[in-house]
Amino acid sequence: MLLRYRYRLYPTLSQQQALARTFGCARTVYNDALRVRKDAYAAGMPCPRIGDLSKSLITEAKRTPAREWLADAPVGVLQQALRDLDKAYRNFFATLANGGSNFGKPRFKSKRDGRQTARYTRSDYFRVLPSGKLRLPKVGEVKVRWSRHLPSAPSSVTVIKDAAGRYFASFVVQTDPSEVLPEVAHEAGIDLGLTHFAVLSDGRKVSSPKFLRRAERKIRKAQQALSRKEKGSSNRTKARTRVARLRALAANARKDHHHKLSTQIIRENQAVYVENLSVKGLARTRLSKSIQDAGWSMFVAMLEYKAARYGRAFHRVDRWLPSSQTCHVCFVIDGPKPLNVRTWTCGACGTEHDRDVNAARVILAAGRAERQNACGGAVRPAA
Ligand SMILES: [Zn+2]
Repeated sequence: MLLRYRYRLYPTLSQQQALARTFGCARTVYNDALRVRKDAYAAGMPCPRIGDLSKSLITEAKRTPAREWLADAPVGVLQQALRDLDKAYRNFFATLANGGSNFGKPRFKSKRDGRQTARYTRSDYFRVLPSGKLRLPKVGEVKVRWSRHLPSAPSSVTVIKDAAGRYFASFVVQTDPSEVLPEVAHEAGIDLGLTHFAVLSDGRKVSSPKFLRRAERKIRKAQQALSRKEKGSSNRTKARTRVARLRALAANARKDHHHKLSTQIIRENQAVYVENLSVKGLARTRLSKSIQDAGWSMFVAMLEYKAARYGRAFHRVDRWLPSSQTCHVCFVIDGPKPLNVRTWTCGACGTEHDRDVNAARVILAAGRAERQNACGGAVRPAA
C-alpha cells in the first residue's frame, strides 16, 4: 500500500532560490508539453508520446539558448512534469467519459500560482541523510522537521511551496501490509464545527462528550478560586495543584475520546478528508476557543497517522473553501450564512441543506478532486 507522509521543510535562502529554479523548469516543461499537445490536437494530429516529448522538450531543448537553463533542474523532475501532464489529461478524459465534474482541462501553470511543486522520483534523485536532512540534486541538503516517523524508505518525494510561502516534502512510502485493513467503499468528509465537535458527510454529528464539558466547567471554577487566593499562601499552592490535576484529567479524557472516534472513522472509511485547520482558522471568528483548536489538531493528527498505519487515505483540503456557503450538489457559492442559520436552501439548484452536513459533504467532494489531481494542474469543482 502506497501512502503519503508530509513534513515541513526549512530551506535556506539560497536553497529557496535553487528550488524556485527547479519549480520554474518543471513548470516550463509542463507548459511546453501542454502547448505541443494542444497544437497537435488543433492540427488533427495524434497525441504525441511521452518519449518523444522528453526528447524534444528536454534533451534537445537544453541545447537551445531559449531553454538551456533547463539544466538547472534534475532531469528526473522534468520527466515527472511530463508524466504529471499525462495524468492530468487522463483524469480529464475519464471525467468527460463518465460525465462528472471533477477534472477540468489541464491548464497552463503560472509563476504566480500559489502552489509550486517538483517531484523527485527515483532514489538517486533524492536521499534522506543520516543527519536527518533531505538531499535534493541542484538544491543541497535541506532541513526537515520530522513531525512523525517515516516508516520505510520512500519511493518518491514531492517538494511543495504553498501559497503562504511554506515548504513541504511529501514522501510516498510502502507501509506494513500486515496492519492494513480490508478495503471498504465509504469515504468521509469531516467538518470541525462550532456547534458540534465534528460532523461527518454521512450526516453523523459528534458532540464533545458531556463529561468533558463538565470537566471544563470545573476547571474554570477552580481557576477563579485560584485567582482569589493570596499570593504565596499555602492555600494558593493547593488551589494551583487542583487546577493542574483537573486539567490533566480533562486532557486524558479528551485524548481517550479522540482515540476512540478517530479509530472508528478510520475503520469505517477508505478515505478521510478534513479542512486544513490553519486555513479554517482564518475564516473563523472570536467564537472559537483555543481549547477546541488544540483538540482539533490532536484529533486530526490521530486520523492522519491511523490512516497511514491501517492503509487508509487521509487528505487535508488545502484550498480555502467557504464550505458553509457552498452547495455540495451544484457547487454554487450561495453567500454568507450567519451562525444561527442551521438549514438553508440553495438558490441555484433548490437543494435543502443542513448547514454542517453540507459543509462536510463539500469537504468530501473538494478533497476527492484535490487528491485525484494531486499531480495534475489546478482543478476546481465546476462553479
Ligand atoms: Zn445547489
